[in-house]
Amino acid sequence: DENISVIRDLSKEDDELLLRPQKLNQYIGQANIKEMLSIYIQAALKRNESLDHILLYGAPGLGKTTLAQIIANELGVNIKITSGPAIEKTGDLAALLTTLKHGDVLFIDEIHRLPRFVEEVLYSAMEDYVLDIVLDKDRDSRSIRIELPPFTLIGATTRFGDLSHPLRDRFGATLRLSYYTQEELAQIVSRTANVYQNDIEEEAVKELAKRSRGTPRIANRLFRRVRDFAEIMSDGVITHDITNLALTKLGIDSRGLDHSDYLYLKGIVERFNGGPVGLESIASTIGEEPGTIEDVFEPYLLQEGYIKRTPRGRVATELAYSVLGKKYYKGLLD
Ligand code: ADP
Repeated sequence: DENISVIRDLSKEDDELLLRPQKLNQYIGQANIKEMLSIYIQAALKRNESLDHILLYGAPGLGKTTLAQIIANELGVNIKITSGPAIEKTGDLAALLTTLKHGDVLFIDEIHRLPRFVEEVLYSAMEDYVLDIVLDKDRDSRSIRIELPPFTLIGATTRFGDLSHPLRDRFGATLRLSYYTQEELAQIVSRTANVYQNDIEEEAVKELAKRSRGTPRIANRLFRRVRDFAEIMSDGVITHDITNLALTKLGIDSRGLDHSDYLYLKGIVERFNGGPVGLESIASTIGEEPGTIEDVFEPYLLQEGYIKRTPRGRVATELAYSVLGKKYYKGLLD
């Protein structure tokens, strides 16, 4: 009993902090982004100026928050972390901005979800480092102006298209994170095993890398689950066999697709005859939020060629039919 509770403790997921690389050269993959950032950071340090505002764009779990923390770390400044939906009033934004010191970083995750009127206050803060706040919404409304120290806004978004043009234009650089290769994910899994001090077979590392949907957060999550199996079912060494067994039990197939992916692909193929089908229709068919489908499921399925997006909607490809074990007629009929 005691053993089990110790193991439970060890597998708590709040040790994210431990897993986050602290320096740019520990951050695996995203070579282009690292190269650009390294130059921007060095230039800002050399001029003793704040770094220009940066927009990070990419699917959930690809390392945007991690990168923002690394940037602050490399600049030697503090970082304040918030998210678009958490800022409900201009006062919330003001409270954050007025505590920043020269050169500090403000990180806003899901920046596309900032309320419009908050966003408008952000414009002058980004451009001129001033905050114009309207005190009274009546006829003789007064506004006060608060001077801010130069700071760096790092915005993160899963949906570049949802960002307004004025906001996009105020970022000095937009960096798009891509899915990780299997080699990069293997490095991340090895590093994670090292942090947790777990022995892991090389084949198990590769298997996890292959089944992580190109995403470090998923690689780390699957690693933790597989490690639970290894600790309970054997001596804690993460073997290839245990990895396969655990991933199968978790419902993750050899391509890294899970139950939700299958539900989605089956939905398009079986209910809509392969498409084209609109986002809303497929969402209500499988009982998922359209936002989740668009942000979490589709980007990877698109990139791996299971679906295509056409002006008339989503279409399942021949590959989707083949993973579902179905014959593909589409090409012949069109
Ligand atoms: P996002 O903000 O894009 O949703 P996070 O920055 O929270 O993603 O990253 C998710 C997890 O993946 C974190 O635990 C982080 O340690 C790990 N991670 C992300 N990118 C990398 C990377 N390039 N190298 C190593 N670990 C990474």
